[in-house]
Amino acid sequence: MTGKFEIAVFQGDGIGPEIMAPTIEILRQMSDASPDYDLTFTNAPAGAAHYAQTGDSFPDMSMEIARSADAILLSAMGLPDVRYEDGTEISPQIDLRKKLGLFAGVRPVRVQAGQSTPLALPPGKEIDFVLVRESTEGLFHTQGCGEVLENEARETLLITRDVSEKLFKFTFDLAEERRKQGKGKGHVTCVDKANVFRAFAFFRDMFDAEAKQHPQLEANHAYVDATALWMVQKPWEFDVLVTENMFGDILSDLGAGLMGGLGLAPSADIGLNHAVFQPCHGSAPDIAGQGIANPFAMILSAAMMLEWLGSRNDNDALISDGSRLQNAVEKVISDGNSLTRDLGGEAGTEAAASSVLQEVLVA
Ligand code: NAD
Repeated sequence: MTGKFEIAVFQGDGIGPEIMAPTIEILRQMSDASPDYDLTFTNAPAGAAHYAQTGDSFPDMSMEIARSADAILLSAMGLPDVRYEDGTEISPQIDLRKKLGLFAGVRPVRVQAGQSTPLALPPGKEIDFVLVRESTEGLFHTQGCGEVLENEARETLLITRDVSEKLFKFTFDLAEERRKQGKGKGHVTCVDKANVFRAFAFFRDMFDAEAKQHPQLEANHAYVDATALWMVQKPWEFDVLVTENMFGDILSDLGAGLMGGLGLAPSADIGLNHAVFQPCHGSAPDIAGQGIANPFAMILSAAMMLEWLGSRNDNDALISDGSRLQNAVEKVISDGNSLTRDLGGEAGTEAAASSVLQEVLVA
């Protein structure tokens, strides 16, 4: 089915625009070559640099562009030296999660055989799991308004039935989809701390209730501390993991570490009606403006966007172009000839991205 899709683009700060430009170029060329879909792009100004220039970090017009788009592509946002008066940083990506109800933070962790990883993988083992991080509540509930008194401080962890039920349904559906595509084992793990906190026992009960609706999938539980250990000792055993916001924040960086660094870690924040696709890394001000940033996490996030748009709109061409783009990045990584400096190579941003484009064009 042919479809026209409007993409809201947040260029980001620091290296943000440097990795966004070649990503859009790849998407444009894929869209131009396909008779089955048409992507158009609209810039939505926001972020730290925008705040420094205008005093507004997230104009209403940009929120409107995001709300009315079919998908949102966002590059890294924020600069450590640009802050609100209360000392916190500008982070429109977090505003988007809350305002658009993007409860499911999807963080794929993939290491193919032969790909460099800090772990010594046993022969034939690959890492291929997805961490789903609840992204609107948990320990981030009081973000920016925690109570700080003279001798004590308080933040509140919030787990709601409404969000948890949506989160677990999303997670089991994702595991089912992976199983059908031959990517996963059909196994879902609830990562919590139910041995200590009643809120996590509540979280776990709702997970168990959803698990009963999916008898074809295997469901189990793991404590977050043990999960951190197993992500290092036997990460190839995981398939789909689901967890609270702060636990997911920490474990997703551990996952990026397994992949060889933040420059390879894509992500999506997905709700019932909207989704944002962005790399896990930040704006890397230490290397901004030098043309050496790794664009792969941004491009992999764009590949996730194509697959999500395709599944949502029943458009097989988009789904297949999403996996074609992912495969192209993985091919460039395994060939090893166009790696950026963070991966031990010498390629600049443009050269690394153009190798991906060449792979896409021949695939
Ligand atoms: P960072 O991810 O920007 O950088 C950490 C290290 O990784 C740096 O040495 C950087 O050079 C390197 N790095 C990151 N991305 C890279 C890439 N694509 N290619 C090559 N090297 C890369 O984290 P930070 O320094 O803690 O944060 C910098 C700013 O980014 C802060 O203002 C922070 O708030 C913001 N931030 C934004 C997001 C987001 O937009 N989702 C996430 C994390 C941090």
